[in-house]
Amino acid sequence: MLLDKTTVLVVLAVLSFAKLVIFYVDSYRRTRTDVARWWCASVAGFCVASVSYAIGDLQNVAWLVATGAGVMAVASGCMWIGTRCLRGRPAVIWPLPVVGLVTTFFSLFGRSVGEAAIGQFVWLTAMGLGIAGAAVELRIRHTATWREIRSFAVVSTLAAGYYLLRAVGVVLLGPTDPLFLAVFGTGVSFLVAIVLLVSATWVMTELNNTQRTAVLREQATLDGLTGLLNRTRFLERAESLLRRSRDSNTVVSVVMSDLDRFKAINDEFGHLTGDAVLQAFGDACRLTVRSSDLVGRYGGEEFIMLLPSSNAAEAVRVADRINVVLAGTGPLRGTGRVATASFGIADTSAGTTSLTELIGRADRALYAAKAQGRNRSMIVDDQVA
Ligand code: GH3
Ligand code: MG
Ligand code: MG
Repeated sequence: MLLDKTTVLVVLAVLSFAKLVIFYVDSYRRTRTDVARWWCASVAGFCVASVSYAIGDLQNVAWLVATGAGVMAVASGCMWIGTRCLRGRPAVIWPLPVVGLVTTFFSLFGRSVGEAAIGQFVWLTAMGLGIAGAAVELRIRHTATWREIRSFAVVSTLAAGYYLLRAVGVVLLGPTDPLFLAVFGTGVSFLVAIVLLVSATWVMTELNNTQRTAVLREQATLDGLTGLLNRTRFLERAESLLRRSRDSNTVVSVVMSDLDRFKAINDEFGHLTGDAVLQAFGDACRLTVRSSDLVGRYGGEEFIMLLPSSNAAEAVRVADRINVVLAGTGPLRGTGRVATASFGIADTSAGTTSLTELIGRADRALYAAKAQGRNRSMIVDDQVA
């Protein structure tokens, strides 16, 4: 029994419209990510294409059928670009109009000269390649979210294989061959599109939400002004780094720092300049430390660092370098004033292994640095401790 093509097309059109509305309201409007944007474009494409194809087929209007084929090829391309965005790769837009125009042209040209095979071949190959591209992008990305994408990767691989096989079948058997019609008939093909659409919309919603949650989680761990770790996240990560260095028996340093006479900078130049000095200090820290070091904003104009595999003397060099970098940058350049910071340093060589204790000792050293005139680093010693 051959599936009724028009009924399947109407189902595809209604379903893609419903999916478009649900995805737009539920996912796109809440997250507004690139993934959601491309996925909306893809579902809208499927919707427009199936309506255009259905009307064209019923009324025997060749250009509507050809346009439907072209739009459906573009919709598959949008699916591919959406999965690229999931990996943080740039959207490549130029293939879309090319694929759309070539597919529409060959669908129209093929039909008008009675060579439907060529038109269908181009259309199906374009669709197959778009979906295969999406499947490949998803497979490359599989590490973090394989659970969510597994079903879609399988469905899109099968769908891509089906469309590519159908493209070969249309050339080898011809579009009117009974075997071709039974296995690759238009009704069955659109049925495959329905399964793909349902599976993909579910997965895209999941992935879109996962990506959004990851962004929010990152925002929640960073200080909004300087981009350094916030206090809570710093302390969490510092505890685990400290545990690791305890296990490997290596020295760790904690550095507390505080900008000098910062209130006066605010009073003299305004709070916006004060904020820019804080940002410049954050940049100077980032430029100076190694990727394995942790830097956080402890609060106000106080910062904290944890330097694994570094003793106090090495930490002093890092701190002094930060003051040098800060002096060469920042909003106070050219005002005759230089922003500086004082640093208090403690390391684990004396046997201190608790983070709270290390911070307390570094803090006392910081007060000593302030008392001795600021713009300097002090290592905790017996007099200070
Ligand atoms: P000292 O050398 O002894 O540390 O003097 P200080 O002026 O830096 O110390 P104090 O604690 O008196 O002043 C800290 C100032 O930092 C006061 C507060 O208004 C300012 N501050 C804290 N957070 C921010 C911020 O996010 N932006 C700006 N612009 N100022 C901040
Ligand atoms: Mg302070
Ligand atoms: Mg200060």
